[in-house]
Amino acid sequence: MLKRTLLNLLLFFTSALLTLPAIAQKEGLAYYLPQNVQLNPAIPTPDSVLGWQVGEWHVSHDKLVEYMRVLAQTSDRIQLQTTGYTHERRPLILLTITHPSNMPRLQEIQQKRQLLVNNPQSVSDAELSSMPAVSYMGFSIHGNEASGSNAALLTAYYLAAAQGPEIEQMLQDVVVLLDPSFNPDGLQRFSSWVNAHKSKNEVSDPQNRELNEAWPRGRTNHYWFDLNRDWLPVQQPESQARLKIFHNWKPNVLTDHHEMGAGSTFFFQPGVPSRNNPLTPAATYELTKAIAQYHVEALDAIGSLYYSEEDYDDFFYGKGSTYPDVNGAVGILFEQASSRGHAQESSHGILRFPFTIRNQFTTTLSTLKATHALKQRLLEHQRWFYQSAQKEAAADPEKGYVFGAAGDAVRPLELVEMLRRHKIEVYKAAEAPSVQGSKISSENSYVVPLNQPQYRLIKAIFETRKTFTDSLFYDISAWTLPLAYNLPYKALDRKELGRLMGEKIETVQLPAGTVNGGRSSYGYILPWQPLYAPKAVNQLLQKDLRLRVITEPVQHAGTTFGRGSVWIPVQSQDMGADSLYSLVSRVAAQNNLQIQSVGSGNTGGVNLGSPSLLSVAQPKVMIAVGDGVSSYDAGEIWHLLDQRYDIQHSLVPVERVRAADLSRYNVVILPDGNYGSAVDAVPALKEWLREGGTLIGLQGGARWMAQNGLSNAKYKKVQNQDSLRGPQPYATLDQRRGAREMGGAIFQAAADTTHPLLWGYTSPNVSLFRTNTHVLEATNSLYAHPLRYTQNPVQAGYVWPGHLENLKGSPAVQVSTIGRGRAIVIPDNPAFRAFWRGSERILINAIFFGTLIDSRSTK
Ligand SMILES: [Zn+2]
Repeated sequence: MLKRTLLNLLLFFTSALLTLPAIAQKEGLAYYLPQNVQLNPAIPTPDSVLGWQVGEWHVSHDKLVEYMRVLAQTSDRIQLQTTGYTHERRPLILLTITHPSNMPRLQEIQQKRQLLVNNPQSVSDAELSSMPAVSYMGFSIHGNEASGSNAALLTAYYLAAAQGPEIEQMLQDVVVLLDPSFNPDGLQRFSSWVNAHKSKNEVSDPQNRELNEAWPRGRTNHYWFDLNRDWLPVQQPESQARLKIFHNWKPNVLTDHHEMGAGSTFFFQPGVPSRNNPLTPAATYELTKAIAQYHVEALDAIGSLYYSEEDYDDFFYGKGSTYPDVNGAVGILFEQASSRGHAQESSHGILRFPFTIRNQFTTTLSTLKATHALKQRLLEHQRWFYQSAQKEAAADPEKGYVFGAAGDAVRPLELVEMLRRHKIEVYKAAEAPSVQGSKISSENSYVVPLNQPQYRLIKAIFETRKTFTDSLFYDISAWTLPLAYNLPYKALDRKELGRLMGEKIETVQLPAGTVNGGRSSYGYILPWQPLYAPKAVNQLLQKDLRLRVITEPVQHAGTTFGRGSVWIPVQSQDMGADSLYSLVSRVAAQNNLQIQSVGSGNTGGVNLGSPSLLSVAQPKVMIAVGDGVSSYDAGEIWHLLDQRYDIQHSLVPVERVRAADLSRYNVVILPDGNYGSAVDAVPALKEWLREGGTLIGLQGGARWMAQNGLSNAKYKKVQNQDSLRGPQPYATLDQRRGAREMGGAIFQAAADTTHPLLWGYTSPNVSLFRTNTHVLEATNSLYAHPLRYTQNPVQAGYVWPGHLENLKGSPAVQVSTIGRGRAIVIPDNPAFRAFWRGSERILINAIFFGTLIDSRSTK
């Protein structure tokens, strides 16, 4: 009853809106919808709720949710759920759309589908035929590729309103999971921009402000992450909520609707066949191709141009159209030429927003038609996928993997958590394994057996592939996760697996943090190896404690506290011993840390009153943002400081640096970027450096420092040596140019763990991720490069041989002294996409300890 009243109220308001003359209904819904379809008049059309026809304005996320809620209230074909929330607390909504007769048995359908994965042999052909297929339709993961989410309005309306035996049958045989906005925060940001700049008269000039979004643009989420790279790392709340739904349902098809440049047409997968991930079975691509036939027919029918197989690829499992391929499903990428705003001139004529929406909507329907027609084949594929995974696991000489860490319980557990998000089973190690020569304690070690349904995905996560059939990559070429977490790991044979496999992990429990030895009237030592030690130290600094960092190892109570450990003396504080104890206890508990109580300064190694212990200041960080800075890289640093470590920071646009009061900060970070018009900022930064600041440049930011006298670092020229000499056929140009790109690969560097930038590291090698070809020139200094690429540095991924030669033995960090300040250049990205947890500590060390680096070491 309540539903009815609400609806009437709503219809009253919206019909009042509809009488407004400003609402142009030029073409109406008929432009989009298939012809000759009966529509249920009781289902509210999008314009009756939005107040304008789809395509006239860009739908905001709020409006999108409003319409979907109204639909769910009026249609018995739709159930709406909130699966999670974005960083900006927008609801992530999902519509389950199917025949009303399927609604009471959704849970039963889900459970049956789990059998296809976990016990495929047990599903008979008859049972298979009686199962519905599941199609997960996802839109606009890039918020400024908005034709997808606007097409979702039409998709939901059509599936609720269309009548007749064809749709009835389809809804009986298919469960549609409609995810109308993969990236609500980005969609909201983008829709605000284009709607705010729309003129009454159509303006299609590509230079118009409407078509040129301000930094950081709407592509990414709140922290400027590309969510279409996060399906594998699963670090963002949007991905975490989505993956839960994905694995509850185990869909057969997943669509991923994007946009590309205005001058293009429409693309659908398959992508470039030579760039398929070899771990995905060929059958997946055959199915993608079979589904593509339905897009061909549908786009031909409306006269739209398109292409396939020439572009994009299915290599990196972190993308939405590729992740399903390694999960028994078929992922499909759609790319529509973008009008960006409401209209844009292009070489194909004026590209209007409604046209782009229509192509997305049309291929949504063709996907559903294909899912319905190929239902049996899709379900058989899914059953076969998991049966064949069992066989491949049985034939594989590798039977599992073990990984762990010395001195840090949390970092390996973060990887365990990530694996479990992919429904990968993880076990505790029954005994301490010996991995890469280092003995790791059994409680910090974990075992992943390969004989489980996610066999192929586990291989993808642990493999270190270095040879490829193609040398072009749409994104990164390697993502070996234990290397990303800097965890020693190794493959296990049957015997080793049997010996090491302990208890299965059902829930991830972080170790309880405590103060070993209880209250002290002398002081406490906080070890620096654990992942969240810096967060704990920052919390103590925020309480105005006077802390000192241990620069020479200290022995106490049978334990060695390495360099970087932080000494918390009772006598130096303004608070009493009891207050200090309760603060330290709280910080230990909150950060799952073992803090050591100390009763005497007469420790082994150096004493705790030693002059070698240095004061630590609370970081006050400025991160450069805005035009000229890469929003991805700036966002990664922002996310790192804000979400992971609660470190005080300001985001300051580069063009404001010149006039900014830099004395508010003791650390300035220049993320990757070209710093196009930032030359004005140089004198201010130089002055601030001389006064004792720590300037940290990463990738392009580092290079810009070197070019502008903000560092003594020198860069090597990229060598143009090429294994093939002499003239080459014109047709090979693309391939040869592309092969020199550094899509992203993993490299090993040798670390001097006595240097402040490497404090807390226990192993002599660190894995680094790099996406550029910037290579530092080594200087004659004995101490200025505490991290260097090894002579054989490639651990995983594709690298052009010329770049590799250049990189061998080169510095991975360089420190200079300018006045009383330190300038630290890091040519790589130590906090890549929030999952590169193993090298983020280099940046964190630079923030906390950069100022402590002895100036003599930088000469
Ligand atoms: Zn996109």
